Amino acid sequence: MAVPKRRTSKARQGKRRSHLHLKPKQNTYCSRCGEAVRAHFVCNNCGWLNSQAREAVVIDEAEES
Ligand SMILES: [Zn+2]
Repeated sequence: MAVPKRRTSKARQGKRRSHLHLKPKQNTYCSRCGEAVRAHFVCNNCGWLNSQAREAVVIDEAEES
């Protein structure tokens, strides 16, 4: 079995892992209610899908009782 000749130093390990960070998600704003929405996603607040310019999900507010 192959065994590493040298232990990886903390600096080298850190340099390798410097690329592992996550980028923040890009968001746009709903054109109907102004809520922050991920691009190409249905709005969580009002169910509006801007790419088709129509209501994709009809939210029943009377359902919670
Ligand atoms: Zn909305």
